[in-house]
Amino acid sequence: MNRRYRKTIIAGNWKMNKTLSETKAFAEAFKPMLGRPRWCDVVLCVPAVNLQPAIRLFKDSRVSIAAETCHYEPSGAYTGEISAEMLKDIGVKYVIVGHSERRQYYNETDLTVNKKVRAALEAGLKPIVCVGESLEQRELGVTMELIAYQVKCALAGVSAERVRHVVFAYEPIWAIGTGRTATAQEAQEVCETIRAIIRKLYGARVARGVTIQYGGSMNPQNAFELLAQPDVDGGLIGGASLKPDQFMEIIKAADQD
Ligand code: PEP
Repeated sequence: MNRRYRKTIIAGNWKMNKTLSETKAFAEAFKPMLGRPRWCDVVLCVPAVNLQPAIRLFKDSRVSIAAETCHYEPSGAYTGEISAEMLKDIGVKYVIVGHSERRQYYNETDLTVNKKVRAALEAGLKPIVCVGESLEQRELGVTMELIAYQVKCALAGVSAERVRHVVFAYEPIWAIGTGRTATAQEAQEVCETIRAIIRKLYGARVARGVTIQYGGSMNPQNAFELLAQPDVDGGLIGGASLKPDQFMEIIKAADQD
């Protein structure tokens, strides 16, 4: 983390978990624990059907609510989809773009990621852009090239003014939901590479202001070491964000003086 130049953001990704009553129970347990973190912004990415209730439930807290995806068109004949504008309109602040589960199961490509990033920014949302390699790609030794490609595609056509509102999440696919975490050094190397690519595209001043998270089995045991890396500015957390006490422990690790 480098709090001088950029925000530390801890975001929970609930994926397809929690009914409305479970969302209410989480809010009741979590809000008193959270209080007012000094350094760290807290985000919860919740299923679309629970966005509006979650916005109401967390209104009096420091939690921002995020969507898990959006469509890239502002409106039109896209049955079942939700646009970035619609999300913004109800008070959503962030949206995940290009999560590996969406790339894997729903045909999200680097091209659609780029369209969604631009649509989110146009609507006034902050995209959390996920990039990351598979185990095979890591073993082939192409991680950095792949990450560079994903980052460049995501940012094509995005102005320096707008890139300030983009958050990146380095999520090695082999670490998501597997209990296997990247080492702090592996996470740092890739987050540093992401920043170097942004630096080449937009210059040093812009690059040092961009928040880059790590995601992949982050938990209360490994969070502190991962977050201590200079280019790891937070976490995107799946499993451990479903339990208020575990999520809170990770926030505490990010919020230490
Ligand atoms: C994720 O879904 O983005 C994620 C990192 O999940 P987990 O923490 O469960 O590995």
